[in-house]
Amino acid sequence: MTPEICPNCGAEVPRRARACPECGADERTGWSDSAAGEHLDLPSEPFEYDDFVNREFGSRSPKPRGIHWFWWLTAVLVLAAMVFFLVR
Ligand SMILES: [Zn+2]
Repeated sequence: MTPEICPNCGAEVPRRARACPECGADERTGWSDSAAGEHLDLPSEPFEYDDFVNREFGSRSPKPRGIHWFWWLTAVLVLAAMVFFLVR
């Protein structure tokens, strides 16, 4: 059963349409807000997201690990180059 007007967003739904063209609600989702939200919801992983935020913007580690080892590598390479030219 396709409602003429979407109960979720109020848009007109074509009779032959199986889903609302506006919000994507359909028979499977029960034409309801929560079901449509579930239908359209992006995969959310709160724990990994928090971890990511802490790593990138958190105050626990002001210096990201990537940059830390990158500068160590740069320093070692510069020292190696200096030693190379001095020895030569
Ligand atoms: Zn709708």
